[in-house]
Amino acid sequence: MENTRVLHTLKEYFGFDSFRPLQKKVIDSIFEGKDNLVIMPTGGGKSICYQLPAILLPEITLVISPLIALMKDQVDGLTANGVAAAFLNSSQTENQQQEIFKKIDSKTLKLLYVAPESLQFVDRFLSDGKISLIAVDEAHCISSWGHDFRPAYTQLGYLKNRFPNTPMIALTATADKATREDICKQLNITSAEKHTASFDRKNLSLDVRPGIKRFEQITNFIKTRSNESGIIYCLSRKNTEEISEKLRRQGFEAEAYHAGLSPEKRIEIQDNFINDNSKIICATIAFGMGIDKSNIRWVIHYNMPKNLEGYYQEIGRAGRDGLPSETILFHSYADVVQLQKFASNSGNQEVQLAKLDRMKQYSEALSCRRKILLSYFGELKKENCGNCDICKNPPQFFDGTIIAQKALSCIFRLKESEPITLVIDVLRGSQNEAVFSKNYQKIKTFGIGKDTSWHHWQQYIIQLINLGYLEIAFHRGNNLQLTSLAKTVLFEGGKVQLAKVPDRKKFKLAEENDISESTSNNSLFEKLRQLRLKIAREEEIPAYLIFNDATLKQMEKSRPVTDDEFLQINGVGRQKMQDYGYEFIKEIIAFNKEKKTTKKRKQANTYKTTLALLGKDLSLEEIARKRELALTTIYSHLAKLYAEDEDVEPLKYISKSDFKAIKKAKEELGNPEGLKPYFQHFEEAMDYGTIRLALAVLEKEQAKD
Ligand code: ADP
Ligand code: ZN
Repeated sequence: MENTRVLHTLKEYFGFDSFRPLQKKVIDSIFEGKDNLVIMPTGGGKSICYQLPAILLPEITLVISPLIALMKDQVDGLTANGVAAAFLNSSQTENQQQEIFKKIDSKTLKLLYVAPESLQFVDRFLSDGKISLIAVDEAHCISSWGHDFRPAYTQLGYLKNRFPNTPMIALTATADKATREDICKQLNITSAEKHTASFDRKNLSLDVRPGIKRFEQITNFIKTRSNESGIIYCLSRKNTEEISEKLRRQGFEAEAYHAGLSPEKRIEIQDNFINDNSKIICATIAFGMGIDKSNIRWVIHYNMPKNLEGYYQEIGRAGRDGLPSETILFHSYADVVQLQKFASNSGNQEVQLAKLDRMKQYSEALSCRRKILLSYFGELKKENCGNCDICKNPPQFFDGTIIAQKALSCIFRLKESEPITLVIDVLRGSQNEAVFSKNYQKIKTFGIGKDTSWHHWQQYIIQLINLGYLEIAFHRGNNLQLTSLAKTVLFEGGKVQLAKVPDRKKFKLAEENDISESTSNNSLFEKLRQLRLKIAREEEIPAYLIFNDATLKQMEKSRPVTDDEFLQINGVGRQKMQDYGYEFIKEIIAFNKEKKTTKKRKQANTYKTTLALLGKDLSLEEIARKRELALTTIYSHLAKLYAEDEDVEPLKYISKSDFKAIKKAKEELGNPEGLKPYFQHFEEAMDYGTIRLALAVLEKEQAKD
């Protein structure tokens, strides 16, 4: 297939100017008739890999997709782009299905989405020659290795035998090697070309914070992001309900989502979120599977996830449109303890515990988090990312030997039989029931750490655990225990480097200063978003199917006002230009006008300020200095004020001889337009300000005559 034709189709139907890495390679391979396995992270742009060939290939493309909601979304999206597509699944009536069979027969469809369970229905309509391409979306569902096994997928192996000459493309976001191989084997495409995109999602910032005052941290974060959609992941159903309730009480639009709700309720909540009707979802991990919302701007983990796969998948739901998006993970020891219990009681506890350990290491890291994350998925990066909390605020190390000695000897005196909370109480000399009941006020280390705050002690002890000086005895009341390394500090003069505890106030300030222009309600972006929402409601489709946020951002930046300019925007294809171009352009023009009026108003103010200063009898030079404006600007203010009959006396500021000379020049030059002819006439010896002012006076004189 010719390059220009492929690129033209990309713009015409999807509105994009260029391909993302790998998309083009996959598409070329399909046109060569090969089978392909595509591994791309969520949001990587998998759909185009088969949707674009489907448009150009002569016969229909069959897409196998596991979730009804996902199918509907994709078909809505294609329809909005002017591509003939339909889906077939068990939720439809017989009549609806008959309609689709008719379309298949008359060859009016380019893509047909089918659930694996419904494949037998289409089988009789299609033969090898009548089908151009088979795409298997979410292909990891075929593998029992994967995390999302679906029995119906296992029958897909027959497709390759049934349509041996039709190229097949399998797509997944699961990176795990065993699963990849299993996919190809089970689909009978063992010689498929394999394409693996980088799993690095650069637009997602990574931030891990101590899980202290989580709710306060969350509200501080979201209050400056009121127009943005986000998800808060929690460990328990109860948590999701409590947090959403608390948020609602503080005036945020938040809803809880978990497996305990009825299916209808869950669909309703999902739809509200997808359509931008509700902004915040507090969910257990059940939420997000198969929803395809591209403008989720942030994801917060209220609790620590079980493993890095889950964590990466969940934060991956943010920023699918490629715009900067934020993720925060709260890290707490209580969570680790809880998860450790779950893991110990699970089937393959060794694997689970090992995975949890990697999760823990990630949260406690003192070097670039993205490097750690990507290395877990087999991608090694040399450079630090610059977009994680560690890169942005590198830890500052100091000699923490005395702090370590205090903590370790306190634990030693407590006979390694107390958990972190009580150890800190004793260090700080707290006078409370827990301390007194065990007579700890009598031990030698009681109160030796008075001048260090609770929070700091907690962070230092966590560091000591991470550095291997301490262990938590999870099966014995979470008591802190000394390791052999601790003995080197206590008895052999070993030194300890600790990292300074970051200042929590800083987070708060950074967030409060963080309201970008685009999130303010008066920005063009916000206006365009409102318009998009209005149209989405009218057409009953998700807002992001009209244009995604990245496209709106571009409109805000380039402010297109003609059809041609509008079509230049990345994300605007022919169909959407026709359907929505008029309304969006209208909005942009209205915005431009409003901007102009504000500008005028601002200018009017600037004249008034000059007028006031003239009233105080300041010289024009003084006014210029005071206002930090050019002297010629003040001259022109004066001219304008005079023309508008304000109470000013321009002749006070021009010498009689200059005025006469300019009057003469006006006659000699035949009253020319603009100031330049005068300037040249005086061979640049008369400044623009004086000329302008004199002309203003002369014009008024003439008008009187
Ligand atoms: P995936 O299925 O891999 O999760 P999608 O196919 O849904 O990803 O694409 C994710 C987002 O990226 C969508 O908003 C899509 O419109 C956008 N996108 C895909 N390809 C391009 C491209 N070449 N240029 C710009 N945006 C793209
Ligand atoms: Zn980093």
